[in-house]
Amino acid sequence: SGGLWVVATPIGNLGDFAPRAAETLRSVDLVLAEDTRHSRPLLLQFGIETPMQALHDHNEATQAAKLVERMLAGASMALISDAGTPLISDPGFRLVQAARAAGVPVRPVPGPSALVAALSVAGIASDRFCFEGFLPSKAGARREAIARLAAEPRTLVFYESAHRVVESLADLRDGLGGARKMVLARELTKRFETVLDGTIGEVRERVMADADQQRGEFVLVVEGVQDLAAAQLAEGRRLYEKLAGHLP
Ligand code: SAM
Repeated sequence: SGGLWVVATPIGNLGDFAPRAAETLRSVDLVLAEDTRHSRPLLLQFGIETPMQALHDHNEATQAAKLVERMLAGASMALISDAGTPLISDPGFRLVQAARAAGVPVRPVPGPSALVAALSVAGIASDRFCFEGFLPSKAGARREAIARLAAEPRTLVFYESAHRVVESLADLRDGLGGARKMVLARELTKRFETVLDGTIGEVRERVMADADQQRGEFVLVVEGVQDLAAAQLAEGRRLYEKLAGHLP
């Protein structure tokens, strides 16, 4: 009978593709993929011949209702994204919302997500955390977003791309203080997997010193504020020193 499966796929290592994920993609009528060209090799590798259709940020709003109608009529579908878990900084929210509203069963086939993979190896408090997805791409908005998080006691988790990791590390250092602990998890489960830990200042310096560390995909895990009063005092001092430099 009709329904929607939300299926996680590997974040780099094909060995992480779960047997139930493959079985689900094989058994449904249609695989909805963020990018069919990207996902075709994965399906081929596992001998999955299910037809695919693209569902991405640009067509999801118009496609969701039609797809839900087909599921109500009995079609079974599986949603996948380019990597990891759909809806986690990936398309699918509108479709899942519409399916649920229409009473279509929505079931998960859980698996990899860079967010959880990074947190699981970071050694930074993981009992409570704020997942912030990608920081804004514009510098002003990014700094504002970081400033709003400066007093957050929970661990902060960000996704970042190679284009902006250097800028984001500088803005995190300026907005949260260079002494805060962080982990930079790069290319998890892939050939060049690297997990750097230290203070924000230290991690930034190691990334700046080695262009190879600026390549690939990143998760930034940053410790929440430990002592808010001390952090505010340090921030006051930092601002004072910055201002003092401009005084006669
Ligand atoms: N849905 C995916 C998930 O569950 O992890 C995330 C999709 S988001 C568009 C892509 C971002 O996830 C990358 O820019 C990076 O921040 C993070 N990411 C994905 N794969 C990664 C990996 N192997 N190592 C580190 N970060 C990764």
